[in-house]
Amino acid sequence: MKKNEDRVIIVGAGPVGLVAAACLGKAGIKTTILELHHELPKDLRASTFHSPTLDILDRFGVTPRLIERGLIAPNWQFRDRREGVIATFDLSVLKGETAHPYRLQCEQWKLSEEMRTVLEADPAVDLIYNTEAIDVAQDDDGVTLSVRNPDGGEETMRCRYLIATDGARSVVRKTLDIPFEGQTLPEIFLSMSTTFPFEEHYDDLATIAYMTDPKEWAVLLRTPTLWRVLLPTDPNFTVEQIKDPDAMQARLQGVCENPGGYEIVHATDYRVNERVARHYVSGRVFLAGDAAHVNNPLGGMGMNGGIHDAINLTEKLVEIWNGRQPIEIMGRYERQRRKAALDAVQAQTLRNRRIMNETDPAARKAFHEELRATVADFAKHKAYLMRSSMIQSLRELEAVD
Ligand SMILES: Cc1cc2nc3c(=O)[nH]c(=O)nc-3n(C[C@H](O)[C@H](O)[C@H](O)COP(=O)(O)OP(=O)(O)OC[C@H]3O[C@@H](n4cnc5c(N)ncnc54)[C@H](O)[C@@H]3O)c2cc1C
Repeated sequence: MKKNEDRVIIVGAGPVGLVAAACLGKAGIKTTILELHHELPKDLRASTFHSPTLDILDRFGVTPRLIERGLIAPNWQFRDRREGVIATFDLSVLKGETAHPYRLQCEQWKLSEEMRTVLEADPAVDLIYNTEAIDVAQDDDGVTLSVRNPDGGEETMRCRYLIATDGARSVVRKTLDIPFEGQTLPEIFLSMSTTFPFEEHYDDLATIAYMTDPKEWAVLLRTPTLWRVLLPTDPNFTVEQIKDPDAMQARLQGVCENPGGYEIVHATDYRVNERVARHYVSGRVFLAGDAAHVNNPLGGMGMNGGIHDAINLTEKLVEIWNGRQPIEIMGRYERQRRKAALDAVQAQTLRNRRIMNETDPAARKAFHEELRATVADFAKHKAYLMRSSMIQSLRELEAVD
């Protein structure tokens, strides 16, 4: 293999690709990470970092920087839009299980920026922008990636192994014909960010509040500068109707009356999929992050789970690279992380959606009573938070052969 082929290529410089690159660079493995755009994407997506993710990111020294740039959420709650607080989950019960017993509200682009700083200091890693992966082929010695450059020209690049972190619409996954199995949820999610200080208008409002309602649930999430309001939306409306300024204003007024009118700084509408790739491993190509699994945002688990993939995958790849283990150990990566995506992330996010979508009064009452009973009992409270913070799913990986 020629010198510049003896490397790992990572397709996609989202949070998952950047973390994977940092892991490989730290192990001294030459790594090239390719990004379609001319800059790291700065769209408003993930805002929640769970405890074990903060523990993991500490190895790169970025956790204190994220904490400085973020907002610590010591607790989060389920509320009813009319009745108020149903149950407040207190993350301090996780003390002793994690060095960060809280959720951190911090935009995912800040993680990308911090990880880029880490990579810039690592001579083993190259980050190349403006390069679009379009095709993948592999043989016994390595992988050939076809890319398109900004001038429209195409070329091929070679590597020993390839990691696909090119997001939910992964070209690599599609090229390899790997089915992305699951469902598209019927509702559209509308997320609106506003300067309105909700904390001054609700009693005991936590930084993250899941608000149930028989007609329309709502999620209120505070970020360091804004509140984000997430509402389910009828898919029969067009984007223009959904994002019509008066319509958005009316919907926010429905959540909390504000005679001065809402300043809506940002709004995004999106369809949500719950899907997991049938395979995470195809020969010398490995999928991670949204390329491998997507879920609804109720619980804030997509990016967190993707970072957990990146750690698991690269730990095994370093062993293979250094000749200490055969490539077959990647099968365990697939088994461990697919199980986490299906049994932990999908199960939890779909359960959260069920609680939020429930309209039947008796079933709503039962959910509320169950949540109240959970926080009233220390063992149940802690067990719930071990699962929702994703600590449990990471611990259970060891039992997967
Ligand atoms: C509104 C919203 C809120 C969310 N909130 C949370 C939350 O609170 N917590 C949480 O954990 N998750 C959350 N998520 C999910 C989270 O944003 C994703 O799980 C996360 O971005 C996945 O990271 P990734 O690196 O796998 O993929 P991405 O972030 O999608 O990154 C993929 C990268 O690959 C690049 N790329 C794509 N195709 C190519 C190509 N062909 N060639 C080269 N480069 C390519 C893209 O430009 C991009 O930079 C949320 C998502 C949304 C939409």
